[in-house]
Amino acid sequence: MIKQPCHSQYIRKEKYSIDEILSKTIVDRQKKDNDLIEFDGDMIHMASDRYKTFLLKGTTCISCGLKASYFAKEKDIHISNGKTWHFNLYGIDENNEEILFTKDHIIPRSKGGKNEINNYQTMCCKCNQNKGDKIL
Ligand SMILES: [Zn+2]
Repeated sequence: MIKQPCHSQYIRKEKYSIDEILSKTIVDRQKKDNDLIEFDGDMIHMASDRYKTFLLKGTTCISCGLKASYFAKEKDIHISNGKTWHFNLYGIDENNEEILFTKDHIIPRSKGGKNEINNYQTMCCKCNQNKGDKIL
């Protein structure tokens, strides 16, 4: 199982408030067609399960209690395609370190957990890495 590293390399543009991004998250659509919304010149898919998880399950890590602070418009440094901007959610920990927030599978995929909103919870990247394939 490949885990998303806590320190992926992203190209960053603007930061946005949590409210702004979650208020534009499209909840009631499954397919990722026609869900593009413009943010300062970039068209971004807003029906992502990640945003839905943060909207419906909150923006606090279920494990350590770290609260997220903002979204950043970013794209993976390895992807040069211009249409790949998305929002990553971040919090700042007690060491003043920026921590990425993730959509965690409550029951891991490897144990039969499904890719659906009821099986997702908000977790910071550090806790997600520590959790591995356990069920919390
Ligand atoms: Zn955590």
